[in-house]
Amino acid sequence: MALIRSRTLRLYCLTISVFASLRIFINCDADLTPPSLTPINRDLYHSSGDLMEQISNLVHRHPDKLIMETIETGNKGYNAELTVVTYSRNRTDRDDRSKLRILLSFGQHGRELITSELALRILSILSEEQFLPNMDPTSSSSVLDKLVIKVVPMENLNGRKIVEDGDLCERRNGRGVDLNRNWSVDWGKKEQDYDPHEENPGTAPFSEPESQMMRKLALSFDPHIWVNVHSGMEALFMPYDHKNTTPDGLPSVRMRRLLEELNKVHCHKRCMIGSGGGSVGYLAHGTATDYMFDVLKVPMAFTFEIYGDPEASSKDCFKMFNPVDHTTFNRVLNDWSAAFFAIFRLAPHQRDEIQAKGSLSGMDKWISIDEYLDGYLIERSHRYEKKKEVLDFGMQEIRTYFRLFLLSSVLLMFMFCSRISKNKYSRTIASVSS
Ligand SMILES: [Zn+2]
Repeated sequence: MALIRSRTLRLYCLTISVFASLRIFINCDADLTPPSLTPINRDLYHSSGDLMEQISNLVHRHPDKLIMETIETGNKGYNAELTVVTYSRNRTDRDDRSKLRILLSFGQHGRELITSELALRILSILSEEQFLPNMDPTSSSSVLDKLVIKVVPMENLNGRKIVEDGDLCERRNGRGVDLNRNWSVDWGKKEQDYDPHEENPGTAPFSEPESQMMRKLALSFDPHIWVNVHSGMEALFMPYDHKNTTPDGLPSVRMRRLLEELNKVHCHKRCMIGSGGGSVGYLAHGTATDYMFDVLKVPMAFTFEIYGDPEASSKDCFKMFNPVDHTTFNRVLNDWSAAFFAIFRLAPHQRDEIQAKGSLSGMDKWISIDEYLDGYLIERSHRYEKKKEVLDFGMQEIRTYFRLFLLSSVLLMFMFCSRISKNKYSRTIASVSS
């Protein structure tokens, strides 16, 4: 998100260049002097390695509540890994399908470091090593008893490493694809001001290993609530991102009600609320939240934007997307972890409504064949160990062959059956006539 200002700047500079090429004298040196760029504040922010180590240590200290898995996959020479932490108050309940399931993803864009810090804070509170102000541990335990929460602390690890190596404006993955444009709903549509440096959707829906792993995770977990956590502004978005409307009916009312409550109590009414596409000023095609809502039928699907500095220069990305001083850093983490715990507290009240989500439609069942195939190709190992995936020879091609194989099998079966019934029929005619 927060693409508007960088687009305005580019347009401005383009206009200046056109004038310059017409040899009209414009003194734009002063305007185009690069602003001083804010470096990553290492006193506040963990490195990606450190942060994942902190989370891993936390999981080791609380094996009764947390488990951690790391999944790996790759294609065409590009590999990615995804760490998923699962919380349930009692470890044995984590596969209990009667519980409300919540899936949270952080760090989908490399430059939004603050989001992964929030993931660590939420996990620390869930494991009762840190506490929210005014949180009553007894009442929160009874609330948390009803939930299973999966947290992806750093969805785009490869992109994050590029940022840590100095490219502070990078939001895409390790090979230049925007992971929040790589999902299949309205994929690949480009607006007039499309900029591949920001929104490259990839070569096909789910071309990227990170999106494939996230989709697989969402399909198997089947969450009731999904939150995609970003930064660049302060906003609470619901579907849709690819059009400027919200869905019809009850789901929309339910989502808006929750967002209004969060805005009032935890965002101090500063947050923008509404559909991502309608509120932010541009449409986004191929986003994770639209897929979760439209295809996976997740009843409550959100994108939260937890911080943005509207005063920062659009080139000064660390400052634009992340708090740079101690006070703001802590305020953001406190406010937003409180907002997430409000969701954990409020969601079970709507449990009956949102748990009654419909069964998958016919189209979704076709999607699950893909997932079956993905699962077949994956060699899984257990907790704390890496999972290897044998995907290097092109998932898309295998899917096509598999579909062709299915189709030809059905055709052969049909021909075989019709042949048998024809033979039977002619035998019956023959026996009647004889
Ligand atoms: Zn973002």
